[in-house]
Amino acid sequence: MHHSENCLFCKIIAGTIPSAKVYEDEYMYAFLDISQVTKGHTLVVPKIHKENIFELTPEIAAKTFAAVPKIAEAIKTEFNPIGLNLLNNNGKDAGQTIFHFHIHIIPRYEKNDGFD
Ligand code: 5GP
Ligand code: ZN
Repeated sequence: MHHSENCLFCKIIAGTIPSAKVYEDEYMYAFLDISQVTKGHTLVVPKIHKENIFELTPEIAAKTFAAVPKIAEAIKTEFNPIGLNLLNNNGKDAGQTIFHFHIHIIPRYEKNDGFD
């Protein structure tokens, strides 16, 4: 399934719900998380709707991980973090709340500028 009618991230990718775009290519869309853990907290989302890692094809996984370092570099340039975490939740018991696969990029700073 390419798009899911009731999926928030499909609507963000389609532009029917606004988002702060960080990166886009043919396969991927990345945007700032609405509830930032730290400044520059970004979600990297394949444009094809897959619920979680158990539904990903190797092709989509490859496209995702090809994009992540480019997006990390863009975040590094824009926000100047001293490190960053990648996070990916799969399944509600693992903390997933939006059921369209995504990778969190969470920049880290010496001081977290008002964030926890
Ligand atoms: P999960 O818990 O599924 O790994 O992550 C979902 C993320 O989506 C959360 O960090 C949450 O803040 C973010 N989120 C939820 N709704 C929206 C929205 O409407 N816009 C944006 N930019 N992020 C959202
Ligand atoms: Zn979706």
